[in-house]
Amino acid sequence: MDVADVSGVPPWFSEHLHEDGIESLYPPQAEAVEAGVADGESLVASVPTASGKTLIAQLAMLAAVDRGGKALYIVPLRALASEKREEFSAFESYGVSVGVATGNYEDTGEWLAGKDVIVATSEKVDSLVRNGAPWVDDLDCVVSDEVHLVDDPNRGPTLEVTLAKLRRINPNLQIVALSATVGNADELAAWLEADLVDSSWRPIELRKGVHYGQALHFGDGSRDELRVESSEKPTEAIVRDTLAEGGSTLVFVNSRRNAEGAAKRLANTTAEGLEADERDRLGALAEEIRGVSDTETSEDLAACVERGAAFHHAGCSGEHRSLIEDAFRDRLIKVVAATPTLAAGVNTPSRRVVVRDWRRYSGDVGGMKPLSVLEVHQMMGRAGRPGRDPYGEALLLAKSHDELDELLDRYVWADPEPVESKLAREPSMRTHLLATIASGFADSRAALLEFLDRTLYATQYRRGDGTDNLEAVVDSTLEYLDHNGFLDRGGTIEATNLGHTVSRLYLDPMSAAEIVDGIEGADDPTALGLYHLVSRTPDMYELYLRSGDTEEYTMAVYERESEFLGAVPSEFEEERFEDWLAALKTARMLEEWASETDEDEIAERYGVGPGDIRGKVDTAEWLLGAAESLAEELGLDSVGAIREARKRVEHGVGEELIDLAGVRGVGRKRARRLYDAGIETRAELRNAEKAVVLGALDGREKTAENVLEAAGHRDPTMEGVTPDASATPEATAGETTDGEDQSSLGDF
Ligand code: ADP
Repeated sequence: MDVADVSGVPPWFSEHLHEDGIESLYPPQAEAVEAGVADGESLVASVPTASGKTLIAQLAMLAAVDRGGKALYIVPLRALASEKREEFSAFESYGVSVGVATGNYEDTGEWLAGKDVIVATSEKVDSLVRNGAPWVDDLDCVVSDEVHLVDDPNRGPTLEVTLAKLRRINPNLQIVALSATVGNADELAAWLEADLVDSSWRPIELRKGVHYGQALHFGDGSRDELRVESSEKPTEAIVRDTLAEGGSTLVFVNSRRNAEGAAKRLANTTAEGLEADERDRLGALAEEIRGVSDTETSEDLAACVERGAAFHHAGCSGEHRSLIEDAFRDRLIKVVAATPTLAAGVNTPSRRVVVRDWRRYSGDVGGMKPLSVLEVHQMMGRAGRPGRDPYGEALLLAKSHDELDELLDRYVWADPEPVESKLAREPSMRTHLLATIASGFADSRAALLEFLDRTLYATQYRRGDGTDNLEAVVDSTLEYLDHNGFLDRGGTIEATNLGHTVSRLYLDPMSAAEIVDGIEGADDPTALGLYHLVSRTPDMYELYLRSGDTEEYTMAVYERESEFLGAVPSEFEEERFEDWLAALKTARMLEEWASETDEDEIAERYGVGPGDIRGKVDTAEWLLGAAESLAEELGLDSVGAIREARKRVEHGVGEELIDLAGVRGVGRKRARRLYDAGIETRAELRNAEKAVVLGALDGREKTAENVLEAAGHRDPTMEGVTPDASATPEATAGETTDGEDQSSLGDF
């Protein structure tokens, strides 16, 4: 079917696709059109990775917009929101406006009311519904990307409940759910009352197999020789073999450390075959990578890239990741060793995919756990570049004959598992029941149960696949919420003021209860006390304790005992005590950040990447903001102390720099330099002597002008100004300066 023949879709779209070389629809896309996806019909498309799901979504959205409607595209990860935004921004020249809903959870994003297409994560959509964003009522088409993630214990329930709410608000809503191939796509379709396209078609043949000994053993029984020299590991041999055929390799491993280690080692293999001009271009790319930030991760990545290899994981900054993805697509980088975080969403096809680690550490089982078939198939689906490779090959690695048989059984021949709702888990229930009541979707037990009837959980239960503990979980959750003062259960069930605040703030009620408990008992909390409090809530992922940490942080617990908000658990309550220590490690990291310690020093000391620091800082800022609102709601004196701790985290500075660091373009390091040169507040900066400002900013005129302008200086121009030598960082701070590094976390 030609794209131009699809009725309902604006004519420019087919021209736009033709420019990208897309002439006719792939078979699953044609099936989707026949099912009415461009006429407003709901659809579940369960189709293999890289088989063109995005285009199905675009047909639905653009047709909806063409009818005068509004579309929402729900992505599973924040990093993917910007990817999709970029992808859809091409539509703007045809008059379709696109917006991304980001920002904090309390924002209703009113400016989005004017957009035709909105991209957001499921969490963001959930919070927009809770905060009553008016434009949500106007939606005509909602796309849910990677809908099989409803199976995810942490994030699935939010997606599930959000889709239920959106459908309740607008009963005629078109839902287009895109899924990887799963075992029970028919159940997803039944849940969403949608048509189903369930296809295993791929644009390019995928050969799945296992490397063992000196050969590749494919699922169809065929074998190819692939020799491993005595000096090399199987992955190196595969990369070498792929390179010899002019192809690239994507290697999936199970941790960031392994990704970095593998990239470093594989760089030895890729470096051998580089041509002179490739070496030059890689050198330039490495410089660009170093320019993104001056952390160790950045340096390690640059060192690999120079030699034709790279790693890709959630600890890399967004800029690093997109530089790597682009260079890999351009075939400049020959190997990427990646954790699977973004495997599903990012379009990085490669001749061969090696799933090197098929087990991953799992906290639930306290050890290594095999990956699901679904996850492995999604990684494998990245093999083969249509139009470039004759076929793609996806390989697992076996060390023994038994393992060869096991891997063929477990992954090569196996079908993906069915997805299962995780809504009945307690943390999800308490969050979503409170939100459902607070945003007026239900005001009685019966109404709640009726609302929950629109969830996948209910669909699966009705079919007899789940055990029915829904009513019991609802009852115990209502009890919990009531007990903590979030609900009023008189005649009808209503949220209390506190309950409304908690729901609006997007907090797990258990986090809210912990925070309320902590701040109620302390009039004048310290920053560390507050950082620890928010770090031990279920909304903060704590840092892991490494060997040696237990001892160090146990000592620290006693040294700083008076600062904790709440009683320190006894060392005999092992699990709670460990949690307390891990929260202390996180809190100390935040304290160092808020005391102007260098980012790479923090990264090194806590064994984390710059992306992780950013993540913790963002979460802490949000949770402290929430604590501030709760303290206001409760009329507590600690509001000021909480605000100060929050601002310190926000800017990464000590108390005395909060005012200055808040000026746009200043940031933590420049604030310190200005302060050391005698300019201590925003007001002083507004009236400062320009020579002093220029001196403090190391003679950088453009920076100095921007900063003065942001502070509201009468005449910010630096023309003819000579820097005051006594104000330079060398003069004021002696040995503590380290050049012009303003890679404050804003860069990530
Ligand atoms: P998925 O979301 O299913 O993993 P994508 O939507 O990212 O896959 O599509 C994978 C690639 O296939 C993209 O580069 C896209 O441009 C291309 N593609 C999609 N549909 C077609 C088509 N009908 N003809 C040619 N290429 C297509």
